[in-house]
Amino acid sequence: MPERITTITVSCRCGEKLFKYQKAGKGRLIKCFIGRLLADYVGIPEGVGLGVEIFCPACKGRVGTTQRIHGSIAVKLNQGQIQGIRIG
Ligand SMILES: [Zn+2]
Repeated sequence: MPERITTITVSCRCGEKLFKYQKAGKGRLIKCFIGRLLADYVGIPEGVGLGVEIFCPACKGRVGTTQRIHGSIAVKLNQGQIQGIRIG
């Protein structure tokens, strides 16, 4: 059975839109794989490395850090800084 994909908008606590993202499966949004971003309002540089901190362009809060997860680059989200999203 194919994994369900849900298109979501990830927002900062301050209300600023950060990403439009295709989330796979159910549960809480923990990470955003760069390759599944439909829109990046933050402006993550192409070919970004690991351990790079990502900041909200509006309030400058740290929204996450880049990590390699399952072999792909993702933004591991800082749950305290984003508006939480849960699917399912
Ligand atoms: Zn913000």
